[in-house]
Amino acid sequence: MTAQAVLATPATLDAVALRSDFPTLRRTINGHPLVYLDSAATSQKPQVVIDRMNQFYAEEYSTVRRSIHLLSAKATQAYEGTRRTVAQFLNAPETRQIIFTKGTTEGINLVAHGYGRKFIGAGDEIIISATEHHANIVPWQMLCEEKGAHLRVIPVDDRGELILEAYEQMLTERTKLVAIGHISNALGTIHPVEDIIRLAHAHGVPVLVDGAQAAPHMPVDVQALDCDFYVFSGHKACGPTGIGVLYGKVELLERMNPFLGGGDMIETVTFEKTTYAPLPHKFEAGTPAIAEVIGLGAALDYLRGIGLEAIATYEHQLLEQATARLSSIPGVRIIGTAQRKAAIVSFTVDGIHPHDIGTLLDQEGIAIRAGHHCAQPVMARYGVPATARASFAFYNLPSEVEALGVAIEKTIAVFA
Ligand code: PLP
Repeated sequence: MTAQAVLATPATLDAVALRSDFPTLRRTINGHPLVYLDSAATSQKPQVVIDRMNQFYAEEYSTVRRSIHLLSAKATQAYEGTRRTVAQFLNAPETRQIIFTKGTTEGINLVAHGYGRKFIGAGDEIIISATEHHANIVPWQMLCEEKGAHLRVIPVDDRGELILEAYEQMLTERTKLVAIGHISNALGTIHPVEDIIRLAHAHGVPVLVDGAQAAPHMPVDVQALDCDFYVFSGHKACGPTGIGVLYGKVELLERMNPFLGGGDMIETVTFEKTTYAPLPHKFEAGTPAIAEVIGLGAALDYLRGIGLEAIATYEHQLLEQATARLSSIPGVRIIGTAQRKAAIVSFTVDGIHPHDIGTLLDQEGIAIRAGHHCAQPVMARYGVPATARASFAFYNLPSEVEALGVAIEKTIAVFA
């Protein structure tokens, strides 16, 4: 789609108006208005989230669960209110299925520890894909090393799509878990998680979905997906850092071991034996990230107010525009051209290292990411040490896509 056509496309949301909710987007970088194209790394924060956390610290601050005084009761109410918001956000059947974690990484480690260490043994297999973020590789590798289990990897084709026939062949009675990214952070591919889950379940195998790149950008319905675990991070979804979510099926969460031991996750403690609190508290040891949980609630309310369908549709328009614009520049190679993609464009430019692209774009006020994107095996698959990556959110504008194209052309001219 040309830039003109995109500009003429009826907007599904008013990005210009929404931008005014984000203080960071008003600033200049190196004398240019900030063009923030790094939302796959972390999103910017709307004022409502900043205000809600400030208000909590300034007027409502207390701990949760432990005390009987009014402030603590109010803090507990707000904290548990976010759990309800998250349950609605993911369409989880019950709030006790929502566990607060530090982020996607911790959610995956929690499952590797609580489920994997208990139910996976020597000779068993765990299936992941060739496009995973290190957060969905390393915890399983550590588990395999400890238990004598094996990691199997679904291969990916040249476009960045998983080869499902290979996956079907991998599923055997040895398979004990499938852990798969919903959207690849390095390529943007939206994986067919529905098919992956259906095929795994036909073999009685549970599936964890890493939703770090999906939950902020498209509607997610864990019941429709029928996934067994779903994880995401608050900071990529307009929320604060240090907070994330693990959704799990009750039957699995109940059978799992706790991750961390300590206060708040127990029912009774004696020196002889400890019994654990019911869900979700069994997995939330210690004083939690209270302000961050409350901030996450404000962020998810904000996203739901815009509408996840509208966000997905709008961001897809930006993706089409960016793909067309970058493809038209001689020397630019887009890595990841899957049919179903989120608004992430990884690319290389002939003869220019991605770090140099990132540095020169920064001079123009354009923030992108350059590197291996915590997905070194993906880089190896496509024979590049790194890529430049522009990732878009609902607060980006078609004019920013154009600014990216112009700045890349300028960079190429500098190196010519
Ligand atoms: N999984 C994917 C697909 C990601 O993109 C990321 C972050 O970039 C992670 C996991 C890790 O998220 P966090 O660092 O918030 O734990």
